Amino acid sequence: MIKPAKIQWSDGSPVSTQFDDVYFSKISGIDETRYVFLQHNELTQRWIDSPQSVFTIAETGFGTGLNLLCTWQQWLEHSETHQALHFVSVEKYPLDKHSLSTALQQWPELQYLSDALISSYPALVPGWHRITLPRLSASSGDVILHLYLGDIADWLGQMTAQVDAWFLDGFTPARNPDMWSAHLFQTMAKLSHYHTSFATFTAASLVRRGLQAAGFKTQKAKGFGKKREMLYGQFNASQGPIAPSWLTYKPWFIPPAIHSENKQAIVVGAGIAGCSSAYSLAKRGWQVTLIDTHENVAAGASGNAQGVLYAKLASDMNIQSEFYLAGYLYSLELLKHVMPDKDNWDDCGVLQLAFNEKELKRQKQFCEKFNLSDVLTSVDEHQASELAGIELENGGLYFKNGAWVYPAAWCEALINQPNIQFLSQHKVTTINQDNFNQWQVDLMHLNTDPLNNEHTKQLTANVVIMCNAHEAKQLSPLTFLPTSPIAGQVSGLASEGIKLNTVLCGDSYVTPSHQGQLNFGATYRLKSTDCETTKDDHTFNLDKLTDNFPSVAIQVNSEGDINGRVSVRCSTPDYVPIAGAVCDEIQFKQQFSDLKKSKRWRFYEAAPFLKGLYLNLGHGSRGLSSAPLCAEFIAAQINDEPWPIIKTHAQMLSPNRFLVSQTIKGL
Ligand code: SAM
Repeated sequence: MIKPAKIQWSDGSPVSTQFDDVYFSKISGIDETRYVFLQHNELTQRWIDSPQSVFTIAETGFGTGLNLLCTWQQWLEHSETHQALHFVSVEKYPLDKHSLSTALQQWPELQYLSDALISSYPALVPGWHRITLPRLSASSGDVILHLYLGDIADWLGQMTAQVDAWFLDGFTPARNPDMWSAHLFQTMAKLSHYHTSFATFTAASLVRRGLQAAGFKTQKAKGFGKKREMLYGQFNASQGPIAPSWLTYKPWFIPPAIHSENKQAIVVGAGIAGCSSAYSLAKRGWQVTLIDTHENVAAGASGNAQGVLYAKLASDMNIQSEFYLAGYLYSLELLKHVMPDKDNWDDCGVLQLAFNEKELKRQKQFCEKFNLSDVLTSVDEHQASELAGIELENGGLYFKNGAWVYPAAWCEALINQPNIQFLSQHKVTTINQDNFNQWQVDLMHLNTDPLNNEHTKQLTANVVIMCNAHEAKQLSPLTFLPTSPIAGQVSGLASEGIKLNTVLCGDSYVTPSHQGQLNFGATYRLKSTDCETTKDDHTFNLDKLTDNFPSVAIQVNSEGDINGRVSVRCSTPDYVPIAGAVCDEIQFKQQFSDLKKSKRWRFYEAAPFLKGLYLNLGHGSRGLSSAPLCAEFIAAQINDEPWPIIKTHAQMLSPNRFLVSQTIKGL
């Protein structure tokens, strides 16, 4: 649960009453940041010296975001040819939006940046928030804020990044020792490389010795303002090789990055997983060929007229729920970026109704325990009725920014970029890797005669992302995947003037009408790939509409022409999506056969990754909230950028989890 900052104001600046310390120097916070962090990490010079690259800064203590704003301002002035700045930060006691804007008011020269930060400031819920800040100059690259809301100790254990510069900015070590622990210094060493620098306002001997013990060369400089000294320095190259991360993290969860000048990728499957994967790579300068067997994007499970975007949470906040919450928030951000006008989506709110007292009580307790009020609240039947604009018999959970989306329009918007080429009506028949780590993808054109020269073709790329749901396991390196299809039917009735302001869901759903149609559903046909609509399924959906949402049902003519659509979702045995880099099945099972003796066996060598092959699939019926974040995670893995998800989630999503369990079982 997030605890807000306890502050009081002194001449317009926040002072922490909890730590009895200032957020920045009383003399001039802005000058302090420039002197201590920017100047002593030599940022300007480094950006000028190494153009074209991605630069990563990690900061301890986000506070008011002043360090971010000063860095961003300098970045805009000096990084014309850079691709992206990643600013990774942690904050346990975030300021609320109002306090943030009060604190930043005192810097008029940064106002254009503070306004942008304030409008992008995330919901105050725990975990990673990945925010692409608005582009304020056409020539400099994106600035991406990765803000982890939670305790620094959790952040250190969960972060994956290659850091170029550290800003150590906890409150003074004597009052805020958690921010200056040996764990911090050791983790810094693991995440640093031979040119990584650090700077901090303090010269406390505990900090200096801790950094030195972890392998940093430290130097003292005159401190800012009245401070006598400060520290800065570099990671010490003479310490020997940096420990590979799998000493603390299983080798099959750490894929190699793809260091290649030749940024050619193939994405297979043009649903929401494929389109968002193509988008995430294209944004990073990759040329992407997106392949699908159908003529148009979103022809499979992403093809319904309206999908619901919210986070289905377990009765307690488990790791799956945390992941879906993060995915939901990221999808909302992405929608705002790629579809700024809301013709084809609406964050009208989602009400997840409780159909009995027990469920309502559980939901209330959940809200009290986890306090996610920036995202969801518990409402009674009166509040729910007011929000929905119709009479409801039950209260429930209210996702205030929950949305419905027309997924095909979202997919179109994602791939509407010059460096994505959509190759429709092509089926991938084989994928093979050559000796130079290039993937050869054989394709068959479904709309040409087999005797035609155009019937087959081969494409080559160094990255392939398979986003073709349950069909992926038909290809030889992926036959081990235990995915299964679940067909499901949604129904729609022509409807004008239906009164319904929010999405309603429970064990079925209905969305506010779109383009003159009310859409509701859905059925589940386990292990089925049959895409015929049936009368029985329409009846089932209508019955659910009548039982669950009677005040909507009475507004429609259920005798009218009903239409619908069946699509096949791809599900996994653990109901968790599959996202990330994949290993070679045969080599994996040989190399790690000791797993049969003990699950806890420690391995010290790299896993046999099929370098360049990634999966983004198995999203069931929740792909709108999980697939885009998975796409961003995969793009971060490929480009060696800070991961937008915690390690626990990366591990949970890894395709290799099935190889581990199959090896343990001797399969
Ligand atoms: N860099 C900030 C800025 O630009 O405004 C100032 C940071 S302030 C000196 C230190 C920050 O560390 C505070 O925002 C505080 O809430 C945060 N903090 C303190 N203890 C923490 C902990 N255990 N984990 C994460 N953040 C913590």
